[in-house]
Amino acid sequence: MSVKYKFGMVECRTSCPRCANPMLINGPVKKILCRYCQSEIILPEGLIYNLVESFFERKDKKGWRNFSLMTKGYALTISINNEYPVCGRCRQQFPVLEMDPDNIPSEITCAGCNEATPVHRAPESIRHVLKHNVDIIIGGQFDEPDGLPEKPAIEGVVLNCPMCGSGMKIDGIERIVPCKFCDSKVYLPDDLWLRLHPVKKVMPWYLGYYKNQPGKPV
Ligand SMILES: [Zn+2]
Ligand SMILES: [Zn+2]
Ligand SMILES: [Zn+2]
Repeated sequence: MSVKYKFGMVECRTSCPRCANPMLINGPVKKILCRYCQSEIILPEGLIYNLVESFFERKDKKGWRNFSLMTKGYALTISINNEYPVCGRCRQQFPVLEMDPDNIPSEITCAGCNEATPVHRAPESIRHVLKHNVDIIIGGQFDEPDGLPEKPAIEGVVLNCPMCGSGMKIDGIERIVPCKFCDSKVYLPDDLWLRLHPVKKVMPWYLGYYKNQPGKPV
C-alpha cells in the first residue's frame, strides 16, 4: 500500500560546545565531528526530537521560517520550509513521491542531473512527533560518516618534518603522522588540517511524514 508523503525541509546550525566554532546538524545524527577542534561531539538525547518537534510547531504554508531554539544546552539556529525535496546539485524538485512505507528505496535519482540523493528510514527516536509519523529522511547526513575518518578533500600533500626536514607524505586520515626518517610524531597544524578537511556546508534534510496510518483515508 503506497502513501503520499508530506515533506518539510530542515537546516540547522549550532556551535561546538568545546571550541564555540560553528557546527552543523546536517541530519538526525547522534554525533558530530567538529571540523575545528576535531572533538567528537555526542548530541544529547532528545535534541533531534526537539528540533523535529519545532518544525511541526512552526511550519506553515508560507514557506521559509527562521528561528532559534534553546534545547539541551544547545542554541540551535534553524531554517525550515514546508517544501518538497529538491536535488542538492541542480535544485530540481523531485516528483511527487508515493511510496510503500514497507519498501522504501535507498535513494532517488534526479531526473535533471542524475545525482542520487539518499533516502533513509527515520530513526526510532523521531518516528512519532506531535501526531505525525516521521517515516523517512531524504538528503542530509545520517549518523555516519561523521565521527569517522573521512577521505580528505585533497590528496598528495607533502610536508617537511619540523625535526629533520625530510619530506613527509600526508594522507589526511591520521592527524599525527610519524616521520619515516627521524621517528618524530608530527601533529598536523590547524591550517593544514582544515585544508584537508574543509568545514562542511549546511545541508538541508527533508522529513517525509504522514499523519494517518498507511492505507487509511486522510
Ligand atoms: Zn570544536
Ligand atoms: Zn539534480
Ligand atoms: Zn623527521
